[in-house]
Amino acid sequence: MKHNRGNPQLSFEPLTLQNAMQEQAFRELLQYLENNSPFYQKLFLSGNIDIHTVTLTELPTTSKEDLQWNNWDFLCVSKDKIAEYTATSGTLGTPVTIALTASDLERLAYNEYCSFITMGLSETDTVQLLLTLDKQFMAGMAYYQGARKLGAAVVRTGPGSPEMQLEVIKNLGVSTLVAVPSFLLKLIETAKAQGIDLKTLPVKKVLAIGESIYDSEWQKSILQERICKDWPIAIHSTYAATEMQTAFTACNAEAGLHANPELIIVELLDEAGNAVAEEEIGEVTITTLGVEGMPLLRYRTGDLCKHTTKSCACGRHSIRIGPVLGRKKQLIKYKGTSVYPAAIFELLNKETWIENYLIGIHQNSELQDEIRIQVVSKSAHSLEALTGLKATFRAQIRVVPEIEFINAAALLALQFPNGSRKQLKIIDYRP
Ligand SMILES: [Zn+2]
Repeated sequence: MKHNRGNPQLSFEPLTLQNAMQEQAFRELLQYLENNSPFYQKLFLSGNIDIHTVTLTELPTTSKEDLQWNNWDFLCVSKDKIAEYTATSGTLGTPVTIALTASDLERLAYNEYCSFITMGLSETDTVQLLLTLDKQFMAGMAYYQGARKLGAAVVRTGPGSPEMQLEVIKNLGVSTLVAVPSFLLKLIETAKAQGIDLKTLPVKKVLAIGESIYDSEWQKSILQERICKDWPIAIHSTYAATEMQTAFTACNAEAGLHANPELIIVELLDEAGNAVAEEEIGEVTITTLGVEGMPLLRYRTGDLCKHTTKSCACGRHSIRIGPVLGRKKQLIKYKGTSVYPAAIFELLNKETWIENYLIGIHQNSELQDEIRIQVVSKSAHSLEALTGLKATFRAQIRVVPEIEFINAAALLALQFPNGSRKQLKIIDYRP
């Protein structure tokens, strides 16, 4: 199944045309799965599904557990066709292996090439990658290949070492960073300590991975405000998951994350599997297009999000999603109210005296959810600050978590369990 690549302009075509193109790709996918996917062959057979007549919404969804328990049943090619093995981070349970063919790697490069185009980059840009390029992490190599395809110059600095990052930015005239947004705060702090005027740095744009930089109403999050107050750069939000092998990226209009209609069909579903209305919260459910190794059909990502199909100011008519509100599994039920982890992040990011934090979600003996937060303080008056923070929690989200102080090194050890490639900000300890 070779991907029909090469037309970033499709997003600018009317939605009806995009949908027609997707319908055709969906039909090809069903045939491909029936011929090659042990998992979907079984699903079609047991569900008595005729792939020639079934519509997308009539098909059952695929869950993360399906993929965890039957990982290799999703593989549609013989092992000699596999070009690379990547893996999910395993933040939520057992990591899943995603095997890619050479065609899938090309598709991935095309996907990130489109991401860079969506944020307005060209071959004149120099892109610094402040993210992991090994540890089976898909995004690092994807952005590397995408920037190469664009013809931009790439600098692979990897994560960490703020002093080194700043040095490279200055020396090479880097215009664009690909980074986790909270790390930008570290760069700002380091620049200030070294007396570097951030406004003199050549960086104009950041492609932000891993963390949302908008609140639930699509307003700039505190994190984004704190960064841009000191460093006037355009931060482009993204959303992606390893399993979907596709990313969503914000354009210059900053009004949602664009899907690439050639690469993915997106649905937003409620608990019962029905489509939610525009601007309502639903679970991001995706069908990959043009994937050869491990294609997915109606895969429930576990991420909660809003969406719109209104045309964007940038001229694209493709579906936009966002803001991403968090994982469905990490939704916290607290005394009858539901709390999104994003709301807790937002409150903690506001507190400039907190250097680092980790949110733990636990379940008590009465099966109630509890929140325990460990914080590293940089203030000498942290006890007063703590009282203030608890009051803020009570007033704004009607939840008072347990908060304890911890030293910086101990927290970092908790945030990188077993050599994790991602710095964890939340751990769900519930059974
Ligand atoms: Zn747009």
